[in-house]
Amino acid sequence: MKFISTRNKKVSVTGAEAIVKGLSDEGGLFVPETFPVISKQEIESLIGMDYAKRANYIISKFLPELKDQLPEYCQKAYSRFDGDPAPLVKINDGLYVLELWHGPTHAFKDIALTLLPYLLVGSKKVVGDTTQTLILVATSGDTGKAALEGFKDVEGTSVVVLYPEDGVSNLQKLQMQTAEGGNVKVFAIKGNFDDAQTAVKEIFTDKANAADLIKSGIALSSANSINFGRLVPQIVYYFSAYADLLDSDQIKFGNKVNFCVPTGNFGNILAGYYAMRMGLPVDKLICASNQNNVLTDFIEEGKYDIKDRPFHKTTSPSMDILISSNLERLIFELSGRDDKLTMQRMQELKSSGKYTIEEKELADMGKIFRAGCADEEEVKETIADMFDEYGYCADPHTAVALSMQEDENNTKQATVYLSTASPYKFVDSVLEALGEKKGATELKSLVKLEDLTALPVPKSLSELPKLKILHKEILEKGEVKGNILDWAKEHSKHG
Ligand SMILES: *Cc1c(COP(=O)(O)O)cnc(C)c1O
Repeated sequence: MKFISTRNKKVSVTGAEAIVKGLSDEGGLFVPETFPVISKQEIESLIGMDYAKRANYIISKFLPELKDQLPEYCQKAYSRFDGDPAPLVKINDGLYVLELWHGPTHAFKDIALTLLPYLLVGSKKVVGDTTQTLILVATSGDTGKAALEGFKDVEGTSVVVLYPEDGVSNLQKLQMQTAEGGNVKVFAIKGNFDDAQTAVKEIFTDKANAADLIKSGIALSSANSINFGRLVPQIVYYFSAYADLLDSDQIKFGNKVNFCVPTGNFGNILAGYYAMRMGLPVDKLICASNQNNVLTDFIEEGKYDIKDRPFHKTTSPSMDILISSNLERLIFELSGRDDKLTMQRMQELKSSGKYTIEEKELADMGKIFRAGCADEEEVKETIADMFDEYGYCADPHTAVALSMQEDENNTKQATVYLSTASPYKFVDSVLEALGEKKGATELKSLVKLEDLTALPVPKSLSELPKLKILHKEILEKGEVKGNILDWAKEHSKHG
């Protein structure tokens, strides 16, 4: 299986190369040259498999060069989850929630970031790359901790996370400050998320740095969702949910299902689109945004426009995104895989903050995608309503998706709502939506929500205060680069 770049179809690499490189040299994203087809019999055969086996089955279609190691990789990654990594919960007839947050950090990033380190290590072996991979992550909370957990003690890799000192919740801060592992390092930066992101980008784009690091045998890489290795594990749970619906007789084979996905970077929902292209019977993919609704307007009107668009800080911070990088992969498909046009549109976005697709592309997109957005009031109401009506406690990200329900009431099809974070991870927002005062600390809030919902608090969250603080450094903006590079070189000597 070959992968081509969205901005230059002549670039053709293997899956292993795509994962090691991350991004194509001219800035395009790697996409499979063709979509492997999963037949009816194959989908049915997933029913008898556990999640790790399902993952191996689907992912091996894209990465045949890792075929021998993949079963073990999937087994190791998904054994880190508390039970089934993607349980499908029936809420009501036709209303299902796919919970993707039973991993080590309690957000859906775990599904990809527990497996990505193995895919990366395996891919490096295949392409003969013997460098030490330094993963650099600027985080507003979820991705940082998931990367720390995923890459912890994985041979040939190290990970440095940078978070804004006052830009993450106390719980998220504690999660990162207590991160264990001989190959991980966490720094706080005095500033906001943009400052962290800018500092990391500077390190990535400075050629002198890269040359300097290579002398110590280190190559920089990112755990961002533009890497195909982050996308491919996400295709699996769409098939898995369908197999579970079949298994429990909720649908008959061939019945089309809707998926409603809370989206930020368009990675999660794009994986659903790929599953559909591979033959999964999908009717509609519903793209659910919070108040940062640039994607809603794009799917309804065909115009992507971030110019003069205010950035809103919401209770679903992992979806507070203006530039959805994975949308490029959809644009590429809609244009009939026109690499030049895709390149042109991405350049327009960079220079003028907008681009428009053609009527035909808009119509084609409308055959598959629906879009909607929820403001903060609607998110709160949805959390309260779901709890009152069904006793189901949803986090604010999941609630953004669940708030799309009424729009879909008139269809008879099953709709699966993707649930991307444990309500405990955003406990104060959830308590407020349920009309409760938050606790004196977030940890007291955990107990309060547990009393209210009888849903057990994940141990790794309630035990956080008992853990040792291992990462205390707070850096001035000007100190970031030096500290990160020094740590990386020092670590590579020992690691
Ligand atoms: C990252 C994230 C999302 C959005 O996923 P994308 O791949 O960026 O669309 C939604 N919810 C939570 C909790 C997340 O961490």
